[in-house]
Amino acid sequence: MINHILNLKCTICGAEYQPDEVDYVCPHHGNEGILDVQYDYDAIATRISPETLRHNPDPTIWRYKPLLPVEPESPVPPLSVGGTPLYHTPKLAAELGLWHLWVKDDGRQPTASFKDRASAIAVVKAHEKGAAVITTASTGNAAAALSGLSASVGQKNVIFVPESAPQAKIAQLLTFGSTVMLVQGSYDDAFDLCMLAADEYGWYNRNTGYNPYMSEGKKTAAFEICEQLNWQAPDRIFVSVGDGCIISGIHKGLKDLLALGWIDRMPKLMGVQAAGSDFLYQAWRNGEDVLTKKPIAAHTVADSISAGLPRDRIKAMRAVTETGGAFIRVSDDEILRAIPQLARGSGVFAEPAGAAAFAGLVAAVRDGLVAADERIVVLNTGNGLKDVASAMKAVETIGTQAYHVAPNLESVARIMEQGVNA
Ligand SMILES: *Cc1c(COP(=O)(O)O)cnc(C)c1O
Ligand SMILES: [Zn+2]
Repeated sequence: MINHILNLKCTICGAEYQPDEVDYVCPHHGNEGILDVQYDYDAIATRISPETLRHNPDPTIWRYKPLLPVEPESPVPPLSVGGTPLYHTPKLAAELGLWHLWVKDDGRQPTASFKDRASAIAVVKAHEKGAAVITTASTGNAAAALSGLSASVGQKNVIFVPESAPQAKIAQLLTFGSTVMLVQGSYDDAFDLCMLAADEYGWYNRNTGYNPYMSEGKKTAAFEICEQLNWQAPDRIFVSVGDGCIISGIHKGLKDLLALGWIDRMPKLMGVQAAGSDFLYQAWRNGEDVLTKKPIAAHTVADSISAGLPRDRIKAMRAVTETGGAFIRVSDDEILRAIPQLARGSGVFAEPAGAAAFAGLVAAVRDGLVAADERIVVLNTGNGLKDVASAMKAVETIGTQAYHVAPNLESVARIMEQGVNA
């Protein structure tokens, strides 16, 4: 029994279950009945506060352990998850005509994406359950995260990714020693297959939008952002959205902080989708029901947010509507251009899905959705080294080239006549 958890509440029918009563979802709705973990905040407030955090030297997500859905005495994996930097970026802000902009760089996680926050929880939960094997489907990063976190504790795991996943992500899986299934199909196909296999073999299922604890790991980014801003919540947070678990997690973290009284207002959550994978944007724009809306065919350069049927769509839609935020849609060209713009303005190198959040901010400024004096946070969810091919395409798009020079000063001099890049 985890005594700071009140229950798991169905996001569709509101039914409440004790954690040991259900495996993952509300039994009334098949795989769609994603549950939300509800906490006893009075009990939590006796164990953690901004004051105790100030004296806690642990920089990882486990500094918030009393707010996480794990047993207090559960061992945690040794990889250092969380504690990523929140950079104040006045140069980038000025370029956009903004006054206060920060970039939270989750490309700095141990396996180089935001997904480590969730996979760390998955590894602990699987251990609590005594699971022999953990499995997940993934566009690549959730897989790499589960793979690396599992390697750190010697946990067996089986991974399902589309065979089109970027090489770097597949290399991580193989290097960490996972059993890797390269699925001949899309992420949505990999997801469905992984669900079947988990059921067939009785593996612990980490899948996004199914396992209720994943958004609980992801919420730690909201805790960090607010703590890094001295508990002065920002006005808006820009987050790229595929399955919608990250934006749901950020929302959950902010709701926790509001309930505890550690922040005094809810930031507006801005969900950024790729134009070729815009299920949630469409549903939001047209007022469609995300439970009955048909899957779309997803295609985008930002592989990590390519999802034809966002698995955490109920929570993601609420994250945007309940905070008065918006969904924003950006083209692949805007995403690619955002990679060097973000990198040059802040020193943060993002993979396409990470840069998409920044592309969303650029679009929001262009469309007059944000005021100059708002305090804005952009979340980079993945490291640029995850997808070098896209970075090369991005710099080609904007016309940046390297110079091939003979090994003598004269050839350097010929080029220097044109000056040095800013
Ligand atoms: C998974 C991922 C996202 C999107 O998260 P969802 O929970 O699927 O919305 C965005 N960026 C990167 C780099 C990711 O790996
Ligand atoms: Zn239900």
